[in-house]
Amino acid sequence: MDNKDNNIVYSETIDFEEKAKVTLEEENRAIRTTLTKLEEESAMLRELFTNANNELSNLKKPALLVADIVSCYGNKAVIRLPNGNKFYSYVHQEVQDIHSGDSVLIDQKTLNIVEKIDLGLNLDVDKFVIVDKPKESWKDLGGLQKEIQEIKEVIELPLQKPELFEKVGIQPPKGILLYGPPGTGKTLLAKAVANSTKATFIEVVGSELVQKFIGEGAKLVKDIFILARSKAPAIVFIDEIDAVASVRMENGTSGEREVNRTFMQLLSEIDGFKHLDKVKIVAATNRPDILDQAVVRPGRLDRLIEVSLPDAEGRTEILKIHTRRMNLQKVRSKELVQLMEGFSGAEIKAVCTEAGYAAIRQQRETVTHEDFMQAIEKIKAEEEEELKGFFG
Ligand code: ATP
Repeated sequence: MDNKDNNIVYSETIDFEEKAKVTLEEENRAIRTTLTKLEEESAMLRELFTNANNELSNLKKPALLVADIVSCYGNKAVIRLPNGNKFYSYVHQEVQDIHSGDSVLIDQKTLNIVEKIDLGLNLDVDKFVIVDKPKESWKDLGGLQKEIQEIKEVIELPLQKPELFEKVGIQPPKGILLYGPPGTGKTLLAKAVANSTKATFIEVVGSELVQKFIGEGAKLVKDIFILARSKAPAIVFIDEIDAVASVRMENGTSGEREVNRTFMQLLSEIDGFKHLDKVKIVAATNRPDILDQAVVRPGRLDRLIEVSLPDAEGRTEILKIHTRRMNLQKVRSKELVQLMEGFSGAEIKAVCTEAGYAAIRQQRETVTHEDFMQAIEKIKAEEEEELKGFFG
């Protein structure tokens, strides 16, 4: 009996100890899990702190200037700042492999070169140029046979058959200058030659090259030609070239100097490529009278092509081109052509669009002679209105 009682006490003790052991192990495990979590949290916080600290010290650092390398001399280089000033600066020994034209970062205090950066080829250019593979062809041009023939000779042929020029031993022009009144098809001619030579068409407007930001215009010209070379064969079309290349009044303002710098860069780019390079320039202006002669000097844009207002034959062709997809009813084109004397290609196109609108307004599917007559009147009135605006 005694023995039995003892046995019971013994088994209860074991049970208690066993339970205590299990609880302790569970507690231990829970503590270990919490510890791991805390360690992870602490690592995360440490990383956050380091990042915030780095950000703070970055914010405290003075910004670096961006400059261009003009020329290099061992561990020294001439740099040009965005305001046009030049400095002879020390190149940090970690900065390797710099060449003229590269973009670098400059310490504001010492003006020394601390890093080379790649601003990307198209960074600036993208905003100012249109890069395209035009669809316009010679067939879309009316009344410009003579001009087309000349452009074929000086732009198309050298791009397509450079060996011909090498054999004969002559140098084709690097570019041409198209001049004449607005809306006569200068842009269209440039697009058509790009299409016929399967060249990339890079369009840039002169007035946009001359920006307010000093130093940018010249850099832009440079970048445009880098872009053109990388996409060769290419036609660089510079519209309103007079904005960059007009005879200067030399008033000495910073804007004036800026135009001058942009112009000098343009000349040096034209001089820089060879006659048979696969990049050609087509420039256009409505004001050949104010153009600086330096740009049309031999070896530069030395072929001048006049694109004038179309004669009766030209107007007939242009009218045919712009009405070829129109549903016409009894239109007497000879009469219209006579009435449109003095109209440019762009104005003839506007007449066609306006006549089409008149038909749509009256819910007709065909365009009549009367629609064209009214359209001509409207375009004439608009032109007179414009002239009044100019001359008061
Ligand atoms: P600007 O000097 O104002 O830049 P531009 O001479 O370059 O003018 P374009 O832009 O080529 O003129 O012409 C404007 C539009 O007028 C063209 O898209 C085209 O539809 C029409 N046009 C002009 N001339 C002709 C032409 N000779 N044949 C057919 N269409 C023409």
